[in-house]
Amino acid sequence: MADCLFCKIVAGEIPSTKIYEDEYVYAFADIAPQAPFHAIVIPKEHICCANKITSENSFLIGKVFEAIQKIAELENLEDGYRVVNNCGEKAGQTVFHIHFHLLARRDLGWPPG
Ligand code: AMP
Ligand code: ZN
Repeated sequence: MADCLFCKIVAGEIPSTKIYEDEYVYAFADIAPQAPFHAIVIPKEHICCANKITSENSFLIGKVFEAIQKIAELENLEDGYRVVNNCGEKAGQTVFHIHFHLLARRDLGWPPG
């Protein structure tokens, strides 16, 4: 998608600090981390938000969660991490390429704010 920040990151047109990459998924360090470990994990293919997951593209969300398991192992996060998806402006979504915040290495309160 021409005007999408995260598509540009996947294409290498905007720099990012890569944490993980495979055929379907890219993960990079969040520019404004909310925890000592804060990655953004995305499908390389553009999907705007959780509300636009379909039977055709839902396998990509499975790939995202497979990647999260690998990142957790590589980064030694297995004692606990949180995955957050904001869907829609009212939920705090600011970048409209579906993404999953992977947060770890601090105590994460519940319920979230
Ligand atoms: P959300 O508010 O759920 O849409 O999350 C967007 C996230 O993307 C925020 O946590 C931002 O800090 C992060 N972000 C925005 N621009 C960049 C960038 N160029 N590189 C890395 N993370 C970014
Ligand atoms: Zn995109």
